[in-house]
Amino acid sequence: GYLGFFLLIAVLTAYMWRDTFDPESVRGARVLITGASSGIGEQMAYHYAKFGAQIVITARRVDALKKVVQECVKLGAKKAMYVTGDMSDPADPERVFKYAVEKLGGLDFLVLNHVGNTNVELWNGDSDHVRSLMQVNFVSYVQMATAALPVLEMSGGSIMVVSSVAGKLASPFVAPYTATKFAMNGFFGALQNELALKKSNVSVSILILGLIDTESAMNKIRGYATMTAYPASEAALSIIKAGATHQREAYYPWFHYFTCLINNIFPFMKDILLSGLSAELMD
Ligand code: NDP
Repeated sequence: GYLGFFLLIAVLTAYMWRDTFDPESVRGARVLITGASSGIGEQMAYHYAKFGAQIVITARRVDALKKVVQECVKLGAKKAMYVTGDMSDPADPERVFKYAVEKLGGLDFLVLNHVGNTNVELWNGDSDHVRSLMQVNFVSYVQMATAALPVLEMSGGSIMVVSSVAGKLASPFVAPYTATKFAMNGFFGALQNELALKKSNVSVSILILGLIDTESAMNKIRGYATMTAYPASEAALSIIKAGATHQREAYYPWFHYFTCLINNIFPFMKDILLSGLSAELMD
């Protein structure tokens, strides 16, 4: 019974996730990537550059952005530009978006990827931090997507939002972060459904990532987690593919589809799913 059920789901999943990506579909495409001064966003910029896209990247650190732009040009980007912006400032999402659309003459892909700094620790009671993290990780995503919808309607474009297993499974030691990712999944899931009802030509892809080996993630989880971290460059490519092929939800690494599925079907197995996290903080 259960085995057959899981086999059926595995076959359906493999079919739905067969690789239909055509690099030609992003050649010359106009792309805005947030949080691209480091980590997964930086790697996405390099992939798009190799595919010959026209890229605007944004984040706060100007020197890091300049370096990424230089590398993008070397790798073959048709255009590569940066604009600084701080997503904790409620005025910046729209300003950054307008800059990109002006420079690119429209937009095909909006990649929402930036994430504010937060500690890995037991809930410490700092609700002000939750408020400000919500602006950076969530409200700024809503602001940018709202500005983007009419522009993307003109091109039949896509929004990709970078979420996490922590947006599906309430993760200990990162309560504020997990809350922002749940909010993201809720909002963009609802938006997806509304766009489908309206038969809109704009697609929204929600990316569910597991642990990825970016410098910031590796520094934070040291001592708290023993699970394997997967390469940022591959995570970045999976996001680009999901957007280009209009997938509603994609998982990297793929098996986290089952992590989330099992969590929903057998909630009492949470302890096993979370066993990759050590309880050192509890001592
Ligand atoms: P990084 O810390 O490497 O990169 C975060 C980016 O966001 C940087 O470019 C940073 O640039 C930018 N940023 C931070 N604060 C702000 C701000 N206030 N305004 C504007 N930009 C800001 O993160 P990752 O590459 O690891 O993560 C990328 C995405 O992937 C995030 O959405 C994250 O939640 C998700 N993810 C990552 C996982 C992982 O294990 N790495 C796991 C699951 C999901 P600057 O400092 O220059 O502003």
